[in-house]
Amino acid sequence: MRSSDLTLLKKCLQSCNTCALSPQQCENKYVVIPSGPLSSFMIVGEAPGADEDEAAEPFVGRSGQLLDTLLKKAKIKREQVYITNVVKCRPYTKKGKFKSNRTPTKREILSCDWLEREIALIKPKVVVPLGATALRAVCGDLPKTLKLGDYIGTQMDEGYGYVTVPCYHPSYLMQHGRKFMDTAVKALALARKVAQGNA
Ligand code: URA
Repeated sequence: MRSSDLTLLKKCLQSCNTCALSPQQCENKYVVIPSGPLSSFMIVGEAPGADEDEAAEPFVGRSGQLLDTLLKKAKIKREQVYITNVVKCRPYTKKGKFKSNRTPTKREILSCDWLEREIALIKPKVVVPLGATALRAVCGDLPKTLKLGDYIGTQMDEGYGYVTVPCYHPSYLMQHGRKFMDTAVKALALARKVAQGNA
């Protein structure tokens, strides 16, 4: 893939109007455009939150700050990694004037088919899904009741042409007092080695 293809993909994304989460159909401000260059290393989050909807960039809020810390500890330069989300617009629940982030529904995930295209164009060596929603999106056929902890830091080769190395989502780490931080850093360090062809 050429970087001009990636530029075109990002441009098409900006005006995406295919589902009810798109800025043209709800109160979201932006389609949150993936960050980073063509890379052998891809990180997939769940969905943008309020901060990302303000900035039109993935992982810029509190989860993003923790992701930066994890990447640094795993000796990975954020600017060398392609970072995207399962759905590109913020799923939210509205109560009065207040909006809270929520997990995207199955329907929203199915109608946002960008991730497939991104993977097909970029052809990463390693994909790191952050959390269960992203893991399901990149690995498809998993048990209905999956125990995320069983997958973290493993190398999964489903024959898609890339290796999946699941990692905890930063928001999960924040909710659990960061006690799984070391495991998350180890998973990212393993993914770095896979991307470099050293694992
Ligand atoms: N959480 C995600 O899954 N993605 C973001 O971009 C931000 C927070």
